[in-house]
Amino acid sequence: MNMNHKVLIIGIDGGTWTILRPAMAEGYMPYLKRLVDEGASGVLESTVPAITPAAWGSFQTGVNPGQHGVYNFQCWDKQNNPHFVSSKDLPITLWEYVGSSGKQVGVLNVPMTYPPRKIDNGFMVTGVLTPSIEAEFTWPPELKRELMEAIPDYDILTLDVAHVKPSELPFETFVEVMVKNIECRGKAAAFLIGKGLLDLFMVHYHASDIIQHAFMCYLDKEHPLYDEEKSKYLFENFYQKLDQMIERTHKAFGEKNGRDHLLLIVSDHGFQSHMREWHIRPWLYKEGFNNAPGAKSSDSVALAKKIGLGKLIRPFLPKKSVDRIEKKVKLKPYVNRVAFRCSCREGFVYLKEEDPQLREKTKHDLIKKLSRFKDPKTGRMIIEKVYCKEDIYHGRCLDKMPDLVLVPSAGYSLSDQVPPGGEWFHTISIDTDMHVGTHHKDGVLIAHGNGVPVRQNITASIVDIMPTVMYYLGLSAPDVCDGQIITDIFMREFLDENPQEACIKLDMIHENNDQIDTYWSEDKKELEDRLKDLGYM
Ligand SMILES: [Zn+2]
Repeated sequence: MNMNHKVLIIGIDGGTWTILRPAMAEGYMPYLKRLVDEGASGVLESTVPAITPAAWGSFQTGVNPGQHGVYNFQCWDKQNNPHFVSSKDLPITLWEYVGSSGKQVGVLNVPMTYPPRKIDNGFMVTGVLTPSIEAEFTWPPELKRELMEAIPDYDILTLDVAHVKPSELPFETFVEVMVKNIECRGKAAAFLIGKGLLDLFMVHYHASDIIQHAFMCYLDKEHPLYDEEKSKYLFENFYQKLDQMIERTHKAFGEKNGRDHLLLIVSDHGFQSHMREWHIRPWLYKEGFNNAPGAKSSDSVALAKKIGLGKLIRPFLPKKSVDRIEKKVKLKPYVNRVAFRCSCREGFVYLKEEDPQLREKTKHDLIKKLSRFKDPKTGRMIIEKVYCKEDIYHGRCLDKMPDLVLVPSAGYSLSDQVPPGGEWFHTISIDTDMHVGTHHKDGVLIAHGNGVPVRQNITASIVDIMPTVMYYLGLSAPDVCDGQIITDIFMREFLDENPQEACIKLDMIHENNDQIDTYWSEDKKELEDRLKDLGYM
């Protein structure tokens, strides 16, 4: 095993082939094209749901969400109490495993790393969900001052920036803010790489996710709002700059740490156009799963039931009609059989009945009805797939995962808001909505460098990155890891020459250090307040 192997990872949030391929073909991303032409590439499948905290949580721990327990920005317990997630929820990460083996590790801006956790032999600058530039966002803490002195315009993509509606800013200004963000990220990466030798370094560019949420309609030729001028503007300004930052980071890492390294470019999920949002709550009521949103016990139907509806109407109506009305009334249970919550696209169902038989019945009724329900406007099925938690998750957090995860069809999202005016559907518009683009399960993977063949159409899972990186560095992943080494990105001879080393043993649960706890308790309140303002909590 060559113990001098090194790894550089570049993250492109929401990076998707449906945008990157045209960008490369039309000459806006020549460096990325070179990497694809010379290396191995394909689809990196995200987690279910395909959302930032779950996907980046699995990326850096190598385990499924049932093992790390993070499936959304906020997760709910059985009593429906929300819990806002952070790095403190995750078990030991790739960075900690590699750092504790004696290798040098650097991490810049990866989501789900705030508050910063101690890394032996390494440093960390936290990513999205860092509340503000005032927060303690580095490990070691003194790195923050050093970074801010070297890159005075270093900025953090806070929740406020990530939640600007495209209509609130002129198009060019919005793009300019995101371009500046990736530029300062690139500068920070070059600065941190220059500080000393590294065995593993990752920089993550998050602005692509925000650009695509805001302007997917200009990047998707099939979208009714597609605009060639704006599309060109985005490619010329944003994606071209992203390509330059990838080149700059790759070259800086190679110059400092030698050419004998592996480059991985990864995304946490892909992207697609977002056309229609389904407000599911009124439907849950109509189908008898829940009370009407906001209904009180004085609900007139409940009252009719209480006083004996059949008795009251029997003298006036034929028996058939009375039976039909009574049956309908019985379907309305007046207690909520399910609780429903959402990520930015998928839906989570928590079965609330205690009785196991009733729970099973509710589950089957719901799956059956959801799988038949169509959008009355388009005639299309809305739910592509309903997953039972046992089918997709396993591990120590299985108990607290939602019972069902609903994955909508292409172009749809689910909403747990009570819709204005009781409308069931909302057609997404760039004038009023924040997200004309939404996530897709297929992210991207590009591998380039020593031992990598020219190969395309590889398929891997986001949990495979951690064991693959550890393998390349001469370490093997812990037994708890769900992922596998992505052997397709290596030449046969490389695999033969580099058998897996013995597993390093570390406790799965990281030590909380007092300093981190102090940062977190101070910042958590601020973050929660912002989430409330933004309607997340
Ligand atoms: Zn996103």
